[in-house]
Amino acid sequence: MGNWKEKLQVNDLSEDSKLEMQCRKCNHVRYLTKADLIKRNAGQRHLNYIEDRSQCIVFGCKGKMRLSLTYTHKVSAFIGGIA
Ligand SMILES: [Zn+2]
Repeated sequence: MGNWKEKLQVNDLSEDSKLEMQCRKCNHVRYLTKADLIKRNAGQRHLNYIEDRSQCIVFGCKGKMRLSLTYTHKVSAFIGGIA
């Protein structure tokens, strides 16, 4: 569990994948897209790095965020195309 984040770079993400970041302290959720991260020059970063560097934006919280990947419907359409 978890080491897919060490293997996956931002550049490896599909254009429409979203990263869900949830605060471990206050449960605040925000979403990052691949484009957001490329804009911040994080394209070469692995996802565990992004997670380690993330911090809750809620004022005074600064909790660590937990990163997970959410796929859109295009992924299942792709799998359907193989079968
Ligand atoms: Zn928080």
